[in-house]
Amino acid sequence: MDLKFPDCRKCNNGTLVPLSDYGRDGAPITYKAWVCTNPGCGFNLRIDNGEISMGRNIGSSTK
Ligand SMILES: [Zn+2]
Repeated sequence: MDLKFPDCRKCNNGTLVPLSDYGRDGAPITYKAWVCTNPGCGFNLRIDNGEISMGRNIGSSTK
């Protein structure tokens, strides 16, 4: 069975791929965030505690 990821609705040129994370108790959170594979687009969508947030820059977090 092939897994087909959705096309990016913003640029129509990339594919949205899921990213997974791990929760505080080590439980895997699958598909926590989706990012566009088109580097010129940068669209991303993530889910935090049931809330969806979009458009945040991934990879530029300042700690
Ligand atoms: Zn895109």
